Amino acid sequence: MSQQGFYAYQAVMMGSPILLKLPQPDEPLARNVFRLIKQQENLLTVNRPLPGAGADRSALSQVMAVNLAAGQHPVQVSQPVFNLIARAHQVSVLAGSAFNFAIGPLVKRWKIGFQGNSVPPQAELDALLQLTDPRQVQLDADARTVYLPLAGMEIDLGAIAKGWIADVVRDYLRQQGVADALINLGGNVQTLGLSAGQPWAIGLKQPFSQQGALLGTLAVSGKSVVTSGVYERYFELDGRRYHHILDPQAGYPLDNELLSVTVISEHSIDGDIWTTLLYGMGVEKALACLKTQPEIEAVFVTRDGEIICSSQRGFGFSLADTN
Ligand code: AMP
Ligand code: MG
Repeated sequence: MSQQGFYAYQAVMMGSPILLKLPQPDEPLARNVFRLIKQQENLLTVNRPLPGAGADRSALSQVMAVNLAAGQHPVQVSQPVFNLIARAHQVSVLAGSAFNFAIGPLVKRWKIGFQGNSVPPQAELDALLQLTDPRQVQLDADARTVYLPLAGMEIDLGAIAKGWIADVVRDYLRQQGVADALINLGGNVQTLGLSAGQPWAIGLKQPFSQQGALLGTLAVSGKSVVTSGVYERYFELDGRRYHHILDPQAGYPLDNELLSVTVISEHSIDGDIWTTLLYGMGVEKALACLKTQPEIEAVFVTRDGEIICSSQRGFGFSLADTN
């Protein structure tokens, strides 16, 4: 289908609508892109039922294989998966980081976005918190192995998998000689070049809008735009909202003035990491932190309905007409 001179290809993968825009119709290329996304998901997902005893284990992702061997033995993974896990480990052990790739046991217990609709008892959360220390995860770069030393530990790459895959798709499209394109993995957008000679226009969603209303539009070229919002996956109970980004210290959903954080960066993996880091900092600390990060730009939407841009070096921003 042609949209403003672009051809759009759609699929539903990783539980999200996926959109690819190409300047020329190219069905085979689109098919290859979707196949590539599927392959990457197959390496990284932790959201699949475990096979029963004696069942075929080849359906496991590499990350699930690591998790299944927790407390037993290290597991060798492919070089790209090792690199991704090493990156996740590195940002998880930063002082005060809200990012924790070993948060799997808590994510699984809350099940937010996967039928979870109750608050786990504090004693359970306390016990699970003991299994989420990222510093305990043992990486061996030479052997390419990952070892979770305690039974019950689980890696969860849900906070960076889409960013990683968006960059893999960008690199693939470049290799194929594509100069202008957009891939949207449901909240993770990566762009190549321009859209009909203009920067790509990426909508900034109004949190909780049923109709998909936009607060404004970001204009970018050759950049990634990643949004993490509390409205993406959550449940409500007794007037409180419980969303899917957990505070690794508290074991509860992060609770501050933010409704969403959008990061503009060259690489989507950086955007995916920074949305979580900044989310955990809150607006004031985040803005101060970004002064030391010229490659990372952010737009914050607060509960009060404020929209705050870190600076606008790498992108344009225009407010929607409505308030
Ligand atoms: P994102 O949509 O990129 O913000 O990632 C959200 C997903 O990351 C969640 O659905 C969990 O799978 C996982 N997650 C939740 N809290 C954290 C955290 N503090 N650090 C890393 N990953 C998390
Ligand atoms: Mg993320």
